[in-house]
Amino acid sequence: MSRHPVVIIGSGPAGLTAAIYTARANLSPLVIEGEPSSTSDQPGGQLMLTTEVENFPGFPEGIMGPELMMRFREQASRFGASFITAKATAIDFSQRPFKVWVRDDLYEADSIIVSTGAQSLMIGLEAEERLLGHGVSTCATCDGFFFRGQEIAVVGGGDSAIEEATFLTKFASKVTLIHRRDTLRASKIMQDRALSNPKIEMRWNSVVTNLIGHDKLVGAMVRDVNTAEESLLPVTGLFVAIGHRPNTDLFKGVLDMEDSGYLITKSDSSYTNIDGVFACGDVQDHTYRQAITAAGSGCMAAIDAERWLEAVGH
Ligand code: NAP
Repeated sequence: MSRHPVVIIGSGPAGLTAAIYTARANLSPLVIEGEPSSTSDQPGGQLMLTTEVENFPGFPEGIMGPELMMRFREQASRFGASFITAKATAIDFSQRPFKVWVRDDLYEADSIIVSTGAQSLMIGLEAEERLLGHGVSTCATCDGFFFRGQEIAVVGGGDSAIEEATFLTKFASKVTLIHRRDTLRASKIMQDRALSNPKIEMRWNSVVTNLIGHDKLVGAMVRDVNTAEESLLPVTGLFVAIGHRPNTDLFKGVLDMEDSGYLITKSDSSYTNIDGVFACGDVQDHTYRQAITAAGSGCMAAIDAERWLEAVGH
C-alpha cells in the first residue's frame, strides 16, 4: 500500500496533461496508465490507435499519435510523475483517503483525477482493427484531410455519421453513407442537409461484412440485409461512426453519470459529485473529443485538484 496526493486514472492527453501540471506543482502524481494489451484501456488512449496527427498545435509537420503520447509521458516523468502500467480494477471513494486497487495492490489517494477516456464503437470485423489508421478511421475531423479527391464511406445513421459524411464531402470526391436500416436516426435538419448533398450517396439497409486491403484499405464488402446480396464498394477510406462508449464501468453507482455513461462534471470545472474527485477528457466530453480539448480539460482538473488539496489543508 502506498499513499499519494493525486492518483490519475487513465493516460490519454487528459490524464498525462493533468500529470504534467500536478507534477510541476510538486504533487508527485501516480498515473495508473492502463493495460498495454487492450484496445480500449491502452496507455496513451485513443491516439495510440491513430497514425498521423496534423491538428495538434505545435507540430507543423504533423506527428504520429503514439509518438505524441510518448512525449506527453516523458514530460510528465521529467517532473516526477510515476506510472503503474495496468488497469485500475476497483475503487472505494466513500471516504478519504480514496482507495484504488490494481488487482491486489492498493493505492491510497488524497485526490483523484479520472481520465479513463472513451472508445469508439466498432463494427467488429477482424480487418477493422488491422486497418485502423490505414484507411479505417473513427474521426472525420482528425483524418478527413487525408482523403482529398478519394471515394470513401461512412457507416452509421445517427447525427455523428451524418455530420461526418457532410464534413467529409469537403475533401472526398464521393461519400457513400452505409446504414443498416431504411430510416436515419439523425435529426431531421441534419438528414436534409446530407440527403440533398450531391456528393453523398445512400446505401440503405446495408452492412459492411468485410474490409479489403492488406496494408491499406482498398474496398469494403457491403451486404444488403434484405436481399443478402454482397457487393464490393471500392473505397480507400471508411469512417466508422456508430457511437462511442465512455470507460466508466468502474465508477457506476459512485460518480454521477448521464444515461449514456459519460461522467457529469460541474459546469466550467472538473468537479464531480464527490469532493476531491475530478474528471477530465473524453470520459466527460461527448461533444468535442479532440486531443487538444482533452489536454485542456486535463490542465483544468490538475488546477482544480491542486487548489482543492490546498483548501483542505494538504
Ligand atoms: P447514435 O445516435 O447512437 O447513432 C448510432 C448509429 O449507428 C445508429 O444509426 C445505429 O443504427 C448505427 N449503429 C449502431 N451500431 C451499429 C453496428 N454495429 N453496425 C452498423 N450500424 C450501427 O450515435 P451518434 O451518432 O454517435 O450520436 C450520439 C449522440 O450525440 C446522439 O445523441 C446525437 O444526437 C449526438 N450528436 C449530435 C450532433 C449534433 O447535433 N451536431 C452530432 C453528433 C452527435 P440504428 O439507427 O439502426 O440504431
